[in-house]
Amino acid sequence: MLFPTHLAAAGLFSRASDLSPLWLVIGAAMPDLVDKPLGLFGITTLFHSVGHAGLVVVVALVPIVLSSRGGLALATGWVSHLVLDAVHVIVNGRASDALFLFWPVVRPPDPPAIPPGSFFWYYLGTPSFYLELLIWGILGTVAVRIARHRLERTD
Ligand SMILES: [Zn+2]
Repeated sequence: MLFPTHLAAAGLFSRASDLSPLWLVIGAAMPDLVDKPLGLFGITTLFHSVGHAGLVVVVALVPIVLSSRGGLALATGWVSHLVLDAVHVIVNGRASDALFLFWPVVRPPDPPAIPPGSFFWYYLGTPSFYLELLIWGILGTVAVRIARHRLERTD
């Protein structure tokens, strides 16, 4: 999914939980903040590598989860990113790309090697793109409801 959608989904999730919105959003940002530069600078050949590796993330996040509520929120945001990216590739008919979750043990057989900027244009109009529009629609609805609720309280 697109980077802003991960952040928005984490913000939306914070409305339904008592976890820190800030740490949820930071956690949701981390996989791309780790992996996109690695791919852009040629350190890895994939744009989904260590930050998107479920196995690595589980091992790295356990101590963070156990450290504090902020750590739990960070890990939850991070895992939400991985789940949404997996949903994205499955919805777009590329289920084998979800094998990024098992990197470095298993490597997706034919992942698209499209840099983040070009990816946006490739991605427009795909089924997952419309799923993202739905997420943004829900977020907009929640934002309007919150604004209305606040206005009613000030009357
Ligand atoms: Zn990602």
